[in-house]
Amino acid sequence: MELAERTKRIDSSGIRKVFALAANMTDPVNLSIGQPHFDVPESIKEVAIQAIRDGRNSYTLTAGIPELRERLLERYRQRRIEAEDVIITSGASGGILLCFLALLNEGDEIIIPDPYFVMYKHLANFIGAKPVYVDTYPDFQLDPVKIEAAITPRTKMILLNSPNNPTGVVYTEAVLRGVMEVAAKHGLTILTDEIYDCFLYDSKPISIAEWYPNTIVLSGFSKSAAMTGWRVGYALAPKAVVAAMANIQMYSFVCAPSFAQWAALAVLDEDTSANEDDYRRKRDLIYGGIKDRYEVTKPGGAFYIFPKAPSDDGDSFVQEAIGNNLLVVPGSVFSERKTHFRISFAAEDREIGRGIEILNRLAG
Ligand code: PLP
Repeated sequence: MELAERTKRIDSSGIRKVFALAANMTDPVNLSIGQPHFDVPESIKEVAIQAIRDGRNSYTLTAGIPELRERLLERYRQRRIEAEDVIITSGASGGILLCFLALLNEGDEIIIPDPYFVMYKHLANFIGAKPVYVDTYPDFQLDPVKIEAAITPRTKMILLNSPNNPTGVVYTEAVLRGVMEVAAKHGLTILTDEIYDCFLYDSKPISIAEWYPNTIVLSGFSKSAAMTGWRVGYALAPKAVVAAMANIQMYSFVCAPSFAQWAALAVLDEDTSANEDDYRRKRDLIYGGIKDRYEVTKPGGAFYIFPKAPSDDGDSFVQEAIGNNLLVVPGSVFSERKTHFRISFAAEDREIGRGIEILNRLAG
């Protein structure tokens, strides 16, 4: 059967290679996982189960249950983010796809800081938009001058992701204000993926949406409540954008899972700061454990750290790490460069400790 042309624009060979290499490992030290190592809080599980028992099992409104939408708008208002509207999506991933479909025409350019969360590149290519990468090595902060230099008449959108996957870097207020000025000058839309702002170790949450109305804020509950399999995310955006995204959702995902939306509402009443404190400690553990042997930027958020491989070749370094029973992800999966590799510290301390030991041995 002949597949559609667009399927060829999604290249999953990088990730597949890692999976293939990892397949032969028995009980590896696994620092490759892109989700929290803790489980959904018991109280939240109970809410989900109760929602199912109460018969909250049918389609919800396309844009999500009003209770959750209102709470989210209110919560962001308290952070001085006055979004016009919000749509509940099938994970933040569903939100990215809907947002791209709603805003990007074929040939439109989207500026993506490199390194980047893999999905951006492949979804942009998939829908026929053109990713334009802005290199952020070596400290992974954005440079508004470099962003402006990447703008062409086809540029439509700038994508931000802070705290960042895979670097853990958090953009500073000065940088965000600089990017905002560039975006305003050129009339560009900002899509800001803030799904990791529940893991911020040295600063308070800050968003370009506080100052720039032409922004879509994307987030969700996969990381904050470890609900990765329940598929609840959301996008705050101007009314017309939410309406367009809802139209596409109506004929595709239909809605986010019903019971999980009720559980997400309860997450907003939970205090998740203990997880943040725990991951701050893990951040200190891994950073302190490798910083003397690796060129590495201290992450300010998320649960990733992105060191440079000793040989400048992240691909062969990861092969070597796998040969030493450590599973990490080559930077080439997240970047047009292959010099680095990603460590996830969403793991037990013991696992992180074993990983540090192997890494220091491999540093030579
Ligand atoms: N955005 C970033 C930066 C991510 O790292 C991830 C998941 O790893 C997502 C979005 C997708 O999250 P969700 O599970 O809500 O689709």
